[in-house]
Amino acid sequence: MADKKPRIFLSPPHMSGYEEEFVEEAFASNWIAPLGPQVEMFEKEICEYTGARGALALSSGTAAIHLALRLLGVEQGDIVFCSSLTFIGSVNPILYQGAQPVFIDAEEKSWNMSPVALQKAFNWAEAAGRMPKAVIIVNLYGQSADYEPLLEICDYYGVPVIEDAAESLGATYHGKASGTWGKFGIYSFNGNKIITTSGGGMLVSDDTEALQKALFWATQARDKALWYQHSEMGYNYRMSNIVAAIGRGQLRVLDDRIQARRRVFERYKEELGGFAGIEFMPELSSGYSTRWLTTLTVNPDICGVEPLEIIEALGRENIESRPVWKPMHLQPLFKGCKYFTHGDKESISDYLFARGVCLPSGSSLGWEDQVRIIEIIKQKIAG
Ligand SMILES: *Cc1c(COP(=O)(O)O)cnc(C)c1O
Repeated sequence: MADKKPRIFLSPPHMSGYEEEFVEEAFASNWIAPLGPQVEMFEKEICEYTGARGALALSSGTAAIHLALRLLGVEQGDIVFCSSLTFIGSVNPILYQGAQPVFIDAEEKSWNMSPVALQKAFNWAEAAGRMPKAVIIVNLYGQSADYEPLLEICDYYGVPVIEDAAESLGATYHGKASGTWGKFGIYSFNGNKIITTSGGGMLVSDDTEALQKALFWATQARDKALWYQHSEMGYNYRMSNIVAAIGRGQLRVLDDRIQARRRVFERYKEELGGFAGIEFMPELSSGYSTRWLTTLTVNPDICGVEPLEIIEALGRENIESRPVWKPMHLQPLFKGCKYFTHGDKESISDYLFARGVCLPSGSSLGWEDQVRIIEIIKQKIAG
């Protein structure tokens, strides 16, 4: 225990040095709070990077989803479709609006929303006369969902899409930025994402009028008056100038971070991909993944080891790894919610949860540390 190595995290922050320059600019101009030029520049730079027409910097990705739902008129008693295999942040805003989530399964080829399951859900909704007000499609672990078939279905029913690109900033699908395929897209700059502002989010859309309305709500819905006057309910959801300054520094190196994460993935794949019973999350041929997290499935019948045993073995060496997201339809919070599977009975997200492992994937992960991780896993598989 004496030579216990420093902890290796799943996805730690990775600063570039530019962040301090922009933060210093903000300090020098005494523009500490609340809004200011850094926020506007950050929004402009996100638009340039993603090709979105408009962007609104917010306190979190969850806040961005909440505003998108409200913009789409989601209210008490409404239904919203959402990917089941995701982080709770995708779904909580549905509850904030008093609406009801209906969960949609994943497909094997992308681990993202299954068009087959989505069609089933629409068939049910149509028969029940309860059409959803919105569909939240999540892009998991750095990879865009397969939007062509998904949007074809949503367009057919005339239901708008919110793209949860919290984990996929920098990815593309048919060459177009992840986050720009839906009516609204959201990004997160939480501490573990591919770039971070310590915490924050962004709402993007080509509908700049809608973003103006979201800005109004995000800043306590102040009417135009000298005094503080309010006719609508609002929130304190805006990003601060200091946080935006960090974001600008991070955005400068986003492409380097993507390259680094993809290299981390390639090494894992080279070293572990040959073992029977180990499968990596596939990449769509029409997409480009950032490989935010390297994720794989372990078949215990072939490998002779349970995924959790690998996670525990790494944990004993002070290395953080995790199971894949626990699907929302399995969460106690959502007991009784409707769920539509990809197969007749087979649920892909249950399968991925039972077998999936997320490995340390930070852009700052060193070669020697990664070798150590790989050796521990090899020993478990071979042992
Ligand atoms: C991180 C994350 C969010 C929430 O973003 P925050 O900025 O932490 O609120 C939402 N959806 C997914 C899929 C995420 O991974």
